[in-house]
Amino acid sequence: MASDLRPSDGTKLFIDGKLVPGSGGVYANTDPATGEQLGWAAEGTAEDMIAAIEAARRAFDDTGWSTDPALRARCVRQLGDAMKDHVEQLREITIAEVGAPRMLTAGPHLEGPVDDLGFFADLAESYSWRTDLPIAEPMGMRTSRQLRREAVGVVGAITPWNFPHQINLAKIGPALAAGNTVVLKPAPDTPWCAAALGVLAAEHTDIPPGVLNVVTSSDHRVGALLSEHPDVDLVSFTGSTATGRSVMAAAASTIKKVFLELGGKSAFVVLDDADIAAACAMAAFSVCVHAGQGCALSTRLLVPRSAYDQALAVTAKTMSGLRAGDPNDARTVCGPLISAKQRERVEGYIDLARREGGEIVVGGGRPADRSGYFVEPTLIAGLTNQSAVAREEIFGPVLVILPYDDDDDAVRIANDSPYGLSGSVWGTDPARIDRVVSAIRTGTLGVNGGTWYAVDAPFGGYKQSGIGREMGVAGFEEYLETKLVAYPA
Ligand code: NAD
Repeated sequence: MASDLRPSDGTKLFIDGKLVPGSGGVYANTDPATGEQLGWAAEGTAEDMIAAIEAARRAFDDTGWSTDPALRARCVRQLGDAMKDHVEQLREITIAEVGAPRMLTAGPHLEGPVDDLGFFADLAESYSWRTDLPIAEPMGMRTSRQLRREAVGVVGAITPWNFPHQINLAKIGPALAAGNTVVLKPAPDTPWCAAALGVLAAEHTDIPPGVLNVVTSSDHRVGALLSEHPDVDLVSFTGSTATGRSVMAAAASTIKKVFLELGGKSAFVVLDDADIAAACAMAAFSVCVHAGQGCALSTRLLVPRSAYDQALAVTAKTMSGLRAGDPNDARTVCGPLISAKQRERVEGYIDLARREGGEIVVGGGRPADRSGYFVEPTLIAGLTNQSAVAREEIFGPVLVILPYDDDDDAVRIANDSPYGLSGSVWGTDPARIDRVVSAIRTGTLGVNGGTWYAVDAPFGGYKQSGIGREMGVAGFEEYLETKLVAYPA
């Protein structure tokens, strides 16, 4: 066993195989559940980022990393094992800096994604890197052809704060297993989760210098260098659609590959033959998970007009019973928002709903007994799908309930959104459910509570929710180039 993952380890960047201080010093890391300072994070600068990109370039160009799948599989497994060995320390860091409810750290916040690393390590060993195509006779010349898949090169991974381990690992795992080198730039609000990866990689793995680099920073412009720099071949970004646009525009100057996982405003469609009470209770519960800070949560509840009163009553009752609470409490599902800025944004949308004539049926304020960045679970009624709160991503425990007239109307409302990330359909008649599922333009859908999240299940968005797929073989292949080699036969 090497050193403990003390929070002070969070004050180091990981560049070219070494844990180094940020050349900008440190910045404060805040506990969202109390608003108090937890400690410090390394302040990476443009200079540090350039050093990391250059190290990743050298490691890709000058070492055998990209052509040694056995080494890559071993290193990715070592990283997973090191995380498992330190899982209790990682759990405390995750609860402290993310405000992640303790119960979720046993799943998608920590242990789930750590386990998932094995899938990508296995892929490094089992993937068909070379495939022979049938003999062909282009222009009368008999030709044998081989399709080769190769790593793209240097990957810039830019991640948000909401599920830091899940998103960091869903990029690092496949990118490294596929033979790329990586520079990870986490969100300013969650530096320690990423910094811990650097410490564990340095102390517990054979990952060669430069193959994985971690640069934390409070300055978004440091991350922006990854989109612009000519030595970065692919930028893998998860975050808001607005930032995704900037990333894509900046990447255009060097025609780099972009992989974008962006925002969502997913619809939870309750058909009129569904168990209305069960469906609405689930919609109310799921929008409060992690205080609604999940891109794929369904934040528009579409209910048949004929059952509107019942749907509203059940949803309101369920949300009233879900209090925002201490993330350390094992019973909490709805913790704090990540920052004062994010709370201001969520409260701004609730005010906007009031000004647009909406009714705040449940919540709308801050819990009186909490000092951190909490907002009460909030249910908004009385607005249409044209209102700002029904169109824009709020990223808080806020649900908008909307009535519809028939299945076609439900589909029309569900699709009337710039986003297309996820959603739910509840009903009884399989043929009807299938018609609605086929008509909704979105990357993932759960039917009657079905869970689509799994390491082998590609996840991503239609429309302005993104480009590409994360997880699964499709997620691994995002980090590969295709080379076709032809020989005379
Ligand atoms: P954000 O877009 O503000 O920031 C994301 C990351 O981008 C951070 O690391 C930030 O420092 C960096 N960044 C900011 N400006 C940049 C620039 N110009 N160039 C390069 N990098 C820049 O998002 P956030 O507030 O951290 O996260 C919340 C958002 O993330 C929500 O919109 C949510 O829907 C989205 N999200 C999407 C998915 C998905 O898989 N589709 C998953 C989680 C979160």
